[in-house]
Amino acid sequence: MKAYRIALLPGDGIGPEVVAEAVRVLEAVAPALSYEEFSVGAGQYLRSGDPLPPAVFDRLRQFDAILLGAMGLPEVRRPDGLEITPQLDLRERLDLYCGLRPVYLFHPQDSPLRNRTAGSIDLLLVRESTEGLFAGRLRPADPASDCVEDTLRITRRGAERILRAAFRQAMRRRKRLTLVDKANVLPSMAFLRRIFHEVAREFPEVATECLYVDAAALLLVREPERFDVLVTENMFGDILSDLAAGLVGGMGMAPSADIGDRHGVFQPAHGSAPDIAGQGIANPVATILSAAMMLEWLGESAAAEAIRRAVRAALSDPTVRTPDMGGRLTTRQMTDAILAALAPIAPQPR
Ligand code: ATP
Repeated sequence: MKAYRIALLPGDGIGPEVVAEAVRVLEAVAPALSYEEFSVGAGQYLRSGDPLPPAVFDRLRQFDAILLGAMGLPEVRRPDGLEITPQLDLRERLDLYCGLRPVYLFHPQDSPLRNRTAGSIDLLLVRESTEGLFAGRLRPADPASDCVEDTLRITRRGAERILRAAFRQAMRRRKRLTLVDKANVLPSMAFLRRIFHEVAREFPEVATECLYVDAAALLLVREPERFDVLVTENMFGDILSDLAAGLVGGMGMAPSADIGDRHGVFQPAHGSAPDIAGQGIANPVATILSAAMMLEWLGESAAAEAIRRAVRAALSDPTVRTPDMGGRLTTRQMTDAILAALAPIAPQPR
């Protein structure tokens, strides 16, 4: 394995706790990786007035990949009242347009749905991450105005690249792709749907469908097994990925990758969870699975698959759970169980 250099951004709240566990797992399957840690997030904002200092951003671009914990704290706000969100700044400034959110049911007891078997929910949500309804988020609003508007921006370039990325993901999976939009109401979404049909012609093997976001939300709850890959706009993706995570055990089970043509940031889909920070009970699974996505993206598929198999093996025992999933294990004990499952299957260093 190449000696990849990984930037660690543990961030705030439970971020440092879950990143430390992911690094323990990475060290077991990929000993050649090296790490450098950077302070980015609400803590850094309180210290320096800038959550993502320019000198740090310049350094981050030089790493092979970035592993991020969680950023932001509810009480740490910008003067305009919004939370500081350097993880969104990173997506935009590194042009990480493709958000990948895999959702997989490891054990029937983890789902609020009845009669689901392990593996029956196995879908991938692809979220556009640089435009959509988040596009105007940094535009200052006039505090004296009685009307504040946000803009939903879809560009042809932005649409084509995220749709192609989604079709490529579908080609690697079960070859089914659903576009989730609101093309019956919003012109921007009718535009997105038109481009979807154009790009679909490049991928004749992929079966496609288009759903309005309200219908998609209903079907995700009633029939999640019908979905393979879903692709959608930034805000819809934000909402639906939490909904989908809820089908398989919650935010502690939801990994994610934000990928561009050059850079990749890998992080759990959850936030900093300040309500449980510092107690050693955060669920590290989402971050460990995000680390597996990082290895996959770096081209280290065998090591990535070893992590995924170990997680699957550990979670096949329903008592191996942290409190968020009704269990009693600490963050560290959960990782220990994954490491124990990994031992017999980890690729041996050559
Ligand atoms: P953000 O807006 O930054 O995504 P959020 O406000 O949606 O964050 P989270 O920080 O994700 O919220 O937390 C939502 C709930 O889920 C909290 O009750 C939190 O404790 C719980 N939670 C989130 N992540 C984990 C985890 N890894 N382990 C256990 N519980 C978690």
